[in-house]
Amino acid sequence: MATHKKNTPVCGDHQVQKEWRKTTFEYSNQGITVRVPGIYAWVCPVDGEASFLPETVDELIMTVQELYETAQRAKTRRSGITEYVVSVG
Ligand SMILES: [Zn+2]
Repeated sequence: MATHKKNTPVCGDHQVQKEWRKTTFEYSNQGITVRVPGIYAWVCPVDGEASFLPETVDELIMTVQELYETAQRAKTRRSGITEYVVSVG
């Protein structure tokens, strides 16, 4: 992923500069959570809240959607497996 050189955003809640670092992208819907670790975002050092760039979200959304649908099918089959980890590379 390209390095990010824009101005550092400030957390509106804590009035501190956010840190550009890796965090976990998380998507939750109807009791299913899809997590993608190792994603760069602006992270508030106080509470760890991450702000993902729109281009990052665009890049992730299709993958997350596919993983979510896979998990939903497993849930429909009443699979006892409740957690999946997928690594690429
Ligand atoms: Zn904050």
